Amino acid sequence: MSETFKAILVSRDAEKKQSVAVTDLTEADLMEGDVTVAVEATTVNYKDGLAISGKAPVIRRWPLVPGIDFAGTVVSSSHADWRKGDKVILNGWGVGETHFGAYAERARVNGDWLVPLPQGMSPHDAMAIGTAGYTAMLCVIALERHGIVPDRGPVVVTGAAGGVGSVAVSILSSLGYHVIASTGRSAESPYLIDLGAAEVISRDELAQPAKPLAKERWAGGVDAVGSHTLANVLSMTSYGGAVAACGLAGGMDLPASVAPFILRGVCLLGIDSVMAPKAVRLEAWRRIGTDLDLQKLASLSTTIGFDGIIDAAHDIVEGKIRGRVVVDM
Ligand code: NDP
Repeated sequence: MSETFKAILVSRDAEKKQSVAVTDLTEADLMEGDVTVAVEATTVNYKDGLAISGKAPVIRRWPLVPGIDFAGTVVSSSHADWRKGDKVILNGWGVGETHFGAYAERARVNGDWLVPLPQGMSPHDAMAIGTAGYTAMLCVIALERHGIVPDRGPVVVTGAAGGVGSVAVSILSSLGYHVIASTGRSAESPYLIDLGAAEVISRDELAQPAKPLAKERWAGGVDAVGSHTLANVLSMTSYGGAVAACGLAGGMDLPASVAPFILRGVCLLGIDSVMAPKAVRLEAWRRIGTDLDLQKLASLSTTIGFDGIIDAAHDIVEGKIRGRVVVDM
């Protein structure tokens, strides 16, 4: 009989009612792919919370093993780039959405989706960063490409105590930016200052409907929240600035005016981590290796086991998680 391994499986009944169960699978149950990986660490991202809670249509193939990212060791491969024993990371590519994902002890995927685990980084470290951290790095790179360097002025990070936000605060402060962290949890101010924030503001300041233009407060921003928050961030961005938008924790709408774009030359930079080309991923992970203080990862992450994934998924959509959650399998 084939060896079984633990997995979380999300299913839907004839009435499209979703259920989540811990089950045993065999490798024969996995979907097609040319590399099989022993998953050593994964994480709980906001998107995983939406998938497991069913609060948004993240899962588009039933039944499905959720989990959008993992780090682990190749156990078998027919892909030219990978051999048994290689340490790898996967983020996105529809894994945990349309392809069986990270919440199983084994994953079989397309080898083109994998990137090597950077030297000196453990699977646990890589998942303390996870898709949230890799996305934060994509935001920082986008701002830099737009010329938003520390001398241009402060940068704001919204949803700062969350996963993307925490890593963005940490990276931007290490690079010398004056970081203004916006949070709805004032009790997390000491945590954000410890990560490197120069100022902490209340999310309420950015939550009301935005004026077309408001007082210029920052040269750029990383926005994980969307909706009125992003509209306010744009209206408060100084002349020629830019905002990297990656999230929708506050809503998918954007009730803004064109005034910041046409009167201040502000740019809105869209960030997608899921389908980002391999070269972009390699650059982001290389930069994480050089620009993120791995010592800080311990303070911005908590570790749980496989059995804690479902509870953590519900907590993250309720905004109860601080920083990053790492799952040691
Ligand atoms: P987290 O839940 O860890 O962080 C989101 C943070 O947003 C919360 O911690 C909270 O921060 C803030 N927040 C939550 N609800 C609201 C609300 N109603 N109004 C205002 N602020 C709110 O999630 P992640 O950091 O993992 O992800 C953040 C966002 O980025 C998500 O929308 C996610 O889907 C998206 N994302 C997008 C990616 C891409 O490729 N574009 C990749 C990864 C994530 P605080 O308590 O500090 O206010």
